[in-house]
Amino acid sequence: MSRRKKKFSCGHRGYGQICHRCQQEQVDRTNKKQRKDSWEETFERDRIDLRTLPKNVVIKARNIIQDLETKKSYLDFRGKRLRHDRFAISIPVTRKYRLLCRDRGSFLVPEAVVSHEDYNVCKPGG
Ligand SMILES: [Zn+2]
Repeated sequence: MSRRKKKFSCGHRGYGQICHRCQQEQVDRTNKKQRKDSWEETFERDRIDLRTLPKNVVIKARNIIQDLETKKSYLDFRGKRLRHDRFAISIPVTRKYRLLCRDRGSFLVPEAVVSHEDYNVCKPGG
């Protein structure tokens, strides 16, 4: 059996029938794509659209939404009622993002996650 390195059509050198470097790259690409696809699929389960947000914000917002569903109070997350709309509740997600919810009496409905800038724009007189 020859152990001489040979040159593959891709230009790499190595042993065997196929180029292991290219094979490994292919595996890496496939894994990366699968990770991306499964991350994208998680958005289909969200009640509100979180696709445009940074990953850490998405994860934190989901945790808060889930906790709110299990009857935790918005006060546990330092949420506040908006002054101009007492049925709207703003919950800090990160320093930059807020989760806006609507008070439906016995439960809260998440409506959107907005950045601090967006939030200030839609706040009348604020
Ligand atoms: Zn190769």
